[in-house]
Amino acid sequence: MVRALFPGTFDPIHCGHIDIATRASKIFDELIVAVYDRPLKNLLFSPEERLSLTKESLADIKNIKVVGYSGLTVAFAREINAKVIVRGLRVISDFEHEFRMALANKHLAPDIEVAALITNEKYTFLSSSTVREIASLGGDYSRMVPKIVKSALDRRFLELGEDQNVVQPTYLRD
Ligand code: ADP
Repeated sequence: MVRALFPGTFDPIHCGHIDIATRASKIFDELIVAVYDRPLKNLLFSPEERLSLTKESLADIKNIKVVGYSGLTVAFAREINAKVIVRGLRVISDFEHEFRMALANKHLAPDIEVAALITNEKYTFLSSSTVREIASLGGDYSRMVPKIVKSALDRRFLELGEDQNVVQPTYLRD
């Protein structure tokens, strides 16, 4: 039995992540989707909220389990006996980042492989930060995330009101 680990921040989970998780669940016997506790990023949702949105979004896929984790990804992979780390690739800039991370992980844990799946072309542009930015600016992002994630985002931005400095302006503001 091959167990694979799909780690990420998932702030929040979107259709690009779900597509990768769904495809990986067909390749491996079991897929553990792991929500990273405290990355060095400005987060919109707490670890508990990200975990619960990720769980609900993937609840229909039988061989997927969603858990939270902290610390080194390869240490967690070893702990749960996962032989493969799954990542998604969108654009060349992802490749450079993923390539360096995969080599660093290989250095730390030569027994664990990284499998990078190429994005579905309709999600090439999609990232959590794009979703956050569109949501903060009142744009339509209903086809980018599951309904429960959209409700959570709408609620969160209502709570935040003017205080939206958790959203880093990237390229949709001007
Ligand atoms: P991280 O903060 O570790 O990059 P993310 O939650 O942003 O975590 O993403 C987790 C994984 O999902 C990463 O491998 C990322 O490249 C991949 N991913 C994110 N968006 C997409 C997308 N639209 N299509 C395919 N893979 C994606």
